[in-house]
Amino acid sequence: MGNKDSAAGGARVAVVTGASRGIGAQIAKALADQGRHVVLVARNRERLEAVQQEIGADKSSVAACDVSDGEALAQVIDQVVTDHKRLDILVNNAGITRDNLLLRMTDAEFDDVILTNLRSAFIACRAALRPMMRGKWGRIINIGSVAGNTGNSGQANYAAAKAGLIGLTKSLAKEMAAKKITANVVAPGFIETDMTAELPEQVRAGVLTVTPMRRYGQPQEIASAVAYLASEDAGFITGQVLTVDGGLTMS
Ligand code: NDP
Repeated sequence: MGNKDSAAGGARVAVVTGASRGIGAQIAKALADQGRHVVLVARNRERLEAVQQEIGADKSSVAACDVSDGEALAQVIDQVVTDHKRLDILVNNAGITRDNLLLRMTDAEFDDVILTNLRSAFIACRAALRPMMRGKWGRIINIGSVAGNTGNSGQANYAAAKAGLIGLTKSLAKEMAAKKITANVVAPGFIETDMTAELPEQVRAGVLTVTPMRRYGQPQEIASAVAYLASEDAGFITGQVLTVDGGLTMS
């Protein structure tokens, strides 16, 4: 795989949402290692600045934003294009869980997850397409979940959002295929982050018994898959779901 991708007119510019910690922070680092300028998006500015320090202020910038606020998110994308005159890579990674059995799930628990995990991707993709079309190149990677394929007890909201991301991504892939803009989903299994640290101990232990590799994945292992799909070498891959789950859902 060609590591240092180049583009006429300077470094390719990437936006990564949910880049303040966990999987998103590792994705941002992996893209910066490929020579991209990375715009780090999440709510917590302090944590974003800590990630920026690790990457280097010359290789990254910070845009604090709540992605469930569609107008604010579209403004962030527009500002990136104004500042850098381009946008090449978009990684929609920001995500939350609000777990509850469907019987007890509130409207707010459903809506929060749909707004943050699914609608945000639609808004960001829509805002990113024109600059990508102008650049005649683009990579969109949406972070799904194995739950989007399998469903999960207690996660009707989350699984619906992640399944929705697959439909969104495949539709977008078809619309943009002729424009050299690819769109793919990376679907993680259980990965060691704050999100899975919140799970009850019994569930955490159960993960090891159902995952054939008998371990949690590391955020870097998702980041490598994203970096590949964002590379020049992945130009003929579009509309795919790349599952990275230690064998959890192989059939
Ligand atoms: P974390 O909880 O560790 O991190 C979530 C990230 O999303 C943070 O950077 C957080 O930043 C950001 N975020 C959350 N809500 C918002 C919001 N409203 N606006 C902007 N940013 C937001 O999660 P992971 O790193 O584990 O998960 C990353 C992605 O991977 C998610 O989409 C998740 O669904 C998916 N995934 C994770 C799995 C796992 O096992 N960990 C498994 C399958 C999928 P801040 O709080 O600063 O806003």
